Amino acid sequence: MTKKSHWLKPPYIVVCPWLLAKGYCAMALYPFVLLKQAHLRHDRRLMLHERIHLRQQLELLIFPFYIVYLLHYLLLLWRFRNHWQAYRHICFEREAYAHEHNPAYLTQRPLWAWRKYWT
Ligand SMILES: [Zn+2]
Repeated sequence: MTKKSHWLKPPYIVVCPWLLAKGYCAMALYPFVLLKQAHLRHDRRLMLHERIHLRQQLELLIFPFYIVYLLHYLLLLWRFRNHWQAYRHICFEREAYAHEHNPAYLTQRPLWAWRKYWT
């Protein structure tokens, strides 16, 4: 078996300081991770958080992820009347924040693990 070159394997890092909203430093858009600054690629916690989102996107066949993400956000925004609280309670974010410190998480993560974070 031959070893794949790392450039053939997502995520592909794109540095785009102008694209991300104020207060956000990264965003996962399969197969890319958009970063506000290049040095953030060395932030293991942040990169694991974004890799968890990439896995969530893949298992929902990418586009439906954004629909579910937006619908859950709108539902939570209606409930909390506060952007930050709504964002932090999105099931995908709750899973990513809960496991962003565990480097082994993606190797042991069950399929559709985000479902247990739906509130
Ligand atoms: Zn996130």
